[in-house]
Amino acid sequence: MPYCDRCDRSFSTQGFEHHIRTSSRHFFCVAHGRDFESWLGLKEHYVQSPFHHYCQHCDEDFTNEWSLVNHYETVHFYCHEHGRIFHSQRGLNEHFVQHHGHLFCQYCDMTFEYEEQFLDHAEDLHFVCRECVKIFGSPWKQEQHFEKHHSSYY
Ligand SMILES: [Zn+2]
Ligand SMILES: [Zn+2]
Ligand SMILES: [Zn+2]
Ligand SMILES: [Zn+2]
Ligand SMILES: [Zn+2]
Ligand SMILES: [Zn+2]
Repeated sequence: MPYCDRCDRSFSTQGFEHHIRTSSRHFFCVAHGRDFESWLGLKEHYVQSPFHHYCQHCDEDFTNEWSLVNHYETVHFYCHEHGRIFHSQRGLNEHFVQHHGHLFCQYCDMTFEYEEQFLDHAEDLHFVCRECVKIFGSPWKQEQHFEKHHSSYY
């Protein structure tokens, strides 16, 4: 007869399975047949295992990578390039701005694929430092930037 150490009880085979899946003392991964001692342990397993496609924000496990990404895109704010989730559009935009490698114009809320495109756009509509590939909203901000970062030119 199966015996549960943690609960100090014995069960019928069926009863044991039911117990391990439903008891609040057990945290069971059905897919792997593994029992964890805490919710944190199970969660860690979900996050780390490549066989789970788990959204930490919603505590939901998806059947494949595609549905997880699809979930990220519809429910959260997602950066494909870095595989990172943000809580708001603002958070995602901030990431776009801060992370070099994203060609993002925060004034127009637009992302660009090519640096040339991005720089042309910035030069037409805003103020830009071509060297840093950075956009500024006003000429004095651009000047400030030049003074701070490229002052050796002066
Ligand atoms: Zn038990
Ligand atoms: Zn598992
Ligand atoms: Zn989610
Ligand atoms: Zn990114
Ligand atoms: Zn713009
Ligand atoms: Zn610069």
